[in-house]
Amino acid sequence: SEKTSQKIFLNDRLVDKDQAVVSVYDHGLLYGDGIFEGIRIYSSRVFRNQDHIDRLYEGALAIRLEIPLSPEEMTAAVEKTVAANNIVDGYVRLIVTRGAGSLGLDIRRTSNPQVIIIADTISLYPEELYETGMKIITASTIRNHPSALSPRVKSLNYLNNILAKIEGTDAGTLEALMMNHKGEVAECTGDNIFIVKNGVLKTPPRDAGILEGITRKVVIELATEAGIDVREEAMVRHDIYTADECFLTGSAAEVIPVVDLDGRKIGTGTPGEITKKLRKRFQEYVREA
Ligand code: PMP
Repeated sequence: SEKTSQKIFLNDRLVDKDQAVVSVYDHGLLYGDGIFEGIRIYSSRVFRNQDHIDRLYEGALAIRLEIPLSPEEMTAAVEKTVAANNIVDGYVRLIVTRGAGSLGLDIRRTSNPQVIIIADTISLYPEELYETGMKIITASTIRNHPSALSPRVKSLNYLNNILAKIEGTDAGTLEALMMNHKGEVAECTGDNIFIVKNGVLKTPPRDAGILEGITRKVVIELATEAGIDVREEAMVRHDIYTADECFLTGSAAEVIPVVDLDGRKIGTGTPGEITKKLRKRFQEYVREA
């Protein structure tokens, strides 16, 4: 936002937006060397904080990054940033970079990982898309091979997803489906994917090469509580073409219906009943104390 009073958390304290600067030698910039989180704030509370903290610190472990703050200090920093910016319903972008170093890949020649926390308002997709459902296409760019850079690490290197997103944009869609190295459905560029077939809710499993979304996890929990049969199983594009319903999940997207993939109408071509039920339940859940 353009608020001049906006406060950014940088390393150990809140600073004004124009004071929130990092080095051009930071490996986060030079190499995409770092990790991040996108977190929702609902009713002034950090939604599923512990899940985000866990994913962040597990990602740090995977890339051999030592985060200068403890998980407890990080949680306090997020809360402080949210409060300082008077965010009631909004979004937090939490970033940890490798820090400034030499013009080489050696992490031993970097110092001072940078912790950046931005709290802002958010609106990702036009509101009417939640009612009508969105159209998506399949990108030719596949998801990173899990043995290369694991998609389970929410790293600052999003080029893979950006290339797929460009394909979607060129095709006039706001999201694009990415397959994995085995030709199976993985996820969209910034969201996980679910389908409903004959009353069963299905989503690709962790080993399909996906980011294990926190919204995905919440939706699985809410669906299970509602007595819906949920299965994490491999799927191919044909399964989505022939599904009864489809939707995407993400911290920014929440639960958004998908009604068309590659010009194939999914189900009736309108948001399905289970999708609408889960979206409603999700909206209630995030605001429960
Ligand atoms: N997959 C990718 C590639 C993402 O970037 C995101 C959004 N961070 C998701 C899935 C959804 O994850 P979450 O529900 O934790 O926001």
